Order: sequence, then C-alpha cells, then structure tokens
Amino acid sequence: MAIEITTLPGCPFCEKAELIIENDYAKAFWDIHPVNPGHTLIVPKRHVSDWWGVLPEEKVAIDDLVMQMKAILDEKYHPDAYNIGMNLGADAGQTVFHAHVHLIPRYFGDMRVPEGGVRNLIPRKLK
Ligand code: AMP
Ligand code: ZN
Repeated sequence: MAIEITTLPGCPFCEKAELIIENDYAKAFWDIHPVNPGHTLIVPKRHVSDWWGVLPEEKVAIDDLVMQMKAILDEKYHPDAYNIGMNLGADAGQTVFHAHVHLIPRYFGDMRVPEGGVRNLIPRKLK
C-alpha cells in the first residue's frame, strides 16, 4: 500500500518547492546555507521528525536520490570526495525537525587536515 504523504504546515522542508530532483517518496534541494558548493539535502516527502521514524520504502527513495545527486554533483562541481551525514536530535546538532540527509561535496584543501571526517564533530576533541 502506498505511503500517505502527510505534511506539517509551517515546516520549511514540507513547504520546500524549489527541488533539484524528486521521486514518489523523497525530494532533494540545495541547502540554503551550503557548507561547500553543491551541499544538498535529501528528505522524505512525508513529514517525519528524524531518521528513526523514516519508513523502509522512504529510505529506498532517499537512497535513490542520494545516488542520482552524486551523479549530478560530480558533473556540475567535480568534487574530490563526499560526506553524508544526519543530525538526529538537538544535542547532535539537528535544527530542522523534518528528517534529512546532508550530502556534502568535499574539495581538496577545503580543510587543512581532513582525516577523521565526521569523527571531528566535537572541536575540543580534535587531535
Ligand atoms: P540540521 O542542522 O541537520 O537540522 O540541518 C538543517 C539544514 O537545513 C541546515 O544546513 C540549514 O542550512 C538548512 N535549511 C534550513 N532552512 C532551509 C530552507 N528553507 N531551505 C533549504 N535549506 C534549509
Ligand atoms: Zn516537514
């Protein structure tokens, strides 16, 4: 049975209409404050506050857009690497409570020492 796409009035991601690509259950758009050129958000169309509530079919739809966006970003920006990330809960940095995946292109030299990647979330614990 198809998933019902319920939305929350006032939610910036439910109301997001300027899309790069979409499929039945997910959509992708540019982050309004990109960490790097090409920073993309991929979200379920249904309002759900975070990844723990995302349904299996929606995860497949999100993964489909992650793969499509990688191809788009490779062609448009030629990044050297990527980070894929999710902030799940305010104490992990989540600010918009509609589930989303950050797809962040990385470029040689954008950090002096890139080793560690998403392990470097707590600056005082940086080596
Ligand atoms: P998070 O901190 O993981 O909840 O990420 C929320 C992200 O949403 C941030 O990177 C914001 O820059 C981005 N953002 C917030 N509002 C919008 C919007 N209206 N359109 C696109 N991106 C947004
Ligand atoms: Zn929403």
